[in-house]
Amino acid sequence: MRPIKAVLRCSALAHNIGVVRRHAPHSRIWAVVKAAAYGHGLKRMVPVLAAAAGPDGLALLELDAAIQLRESGVSKPILMLEGFFTADEIALYARHRFTSVIHSLRQIEMLEAASIEKPIDVYLKLNTGMNRLGMMARDAIPALARLRACGKAGVITLMTHFADADGPAGVAEQHERLKSVVSQAGIAAQLPLSLANSAAILRYPETHADWVRPGIMLYGCTPFADEPEFSAAHFGLQPVMTLKSEIIAVQDLVTGDRVGYGGTYAARKPMRIGIIACGYADGYPRHAPGTNQHGTPVLVGGRRTRTVGRVSMDMIYADLTPVPDAGVGTPVTLWGEGLSADEVADAAGTVSYELLCALTPRVAVEVLE
Ligand SMILES: *Cc1c(COP(=O)(O)O)cnc(C)c1O
Repeated sequence: MRPIKAVLRCSALAHNIGVVRRHAPHSRIWAVVKAAAYGHGLKRMVPVLAAAAGPDGLALLELDAAIQLRESGVSKPILMLEGFFTADEIALYARHRFTSVIHSLRQIEMLEAASIEKPIDVYLKLNTGMNRLGMMARDAIPALARLRACGKAGVITLMTHFADADGPAGVAEQHERLKSVVSQAGIAAQLPLSLANSAAILRYPETHADWVRPGIMLYGCTPFADEPEFSAAHFGLQPVMTLKSEIIAVQDLVTGDRVGYGGTYAARKPMRIGIIACGYADGYPRHAPGTNQHGTPVLVGGRRTRTVGRVSMDMIYADLTPVPDAGVGTPVTLWGEGLSADEVADAAGTVSYELLCALTPRVAVEVLE
């Protein structure tokens, strides 16, 4: 067996749910598990997610995955973050008790025309500035009236999503817009609210409201990629996924030798490099730099070093100078325990979200309690 594997520590997920609870003690928690639980595999996380001590509900947007959750016995509320796409899905929502985001007039029309025996719970989504999904404030009050009148919406919750809770713009303007909709109509004032993603949970307690929607922090990464002082460790978050491999070959270089496709790294002194069984076909970011100026952090034998050379499909290269005793078989951590995916992502010009989601099916997975 090729030595690469992703080790998933379920106790870290449970721990991180606890971190959410400590930050938002008065809110219920939707664990965001879209994109196969951010690449971890939804089924593998179900024992923690479905536990009584786990989150209060699960939020995702893939209908097939949501149905599989019900079929595997998950009875907690399930929130569909993009709602139904076509009218024929509404019957499935009713049958499986899925809560639907309603972000457009089109969806309201479909719901009005649907024939369902029981109403479905809905999250009326307002566009308060993200300009992705959601209704403008002026359309929200009539939308609410139609939802109430059609008799097919059960519990109605108002939601919005922040564009820059992790950045300099913050949440104030969007939060104000939401509050102004709530104050515009008496009926809206009594509705539950859901606003906060991980960044807002960690930084803006005033947005916690009735339901929070953590994603990335559950998996042990930070939403504040641009602020090293707000690392995952700073918040006490533990990585769920550790991507491990081994050195499968060693090369001794002399000064001037080049490494990998395009020869983007040149040895400036005699040095040893280790060839690691991990490449972009495993989900390692191809743009992770390995030039003379910039490397990407990697742990070899528990010691920190850097990549050299360009990421290829199946292999990357590590400078073994800081680990002279390393050789074939020495364990390597690409990210996870001891080296946050946030750091690797930052070096590669992306975010940990993308690294976790990009893990490919050929990587063996080991699930630990
Ligand atoms: C993905 C998503 C979240 C979770 O965001 P994180 O930054 O991962 O916490 C919350 N709400 C909505 C609507 C989402 O799409």
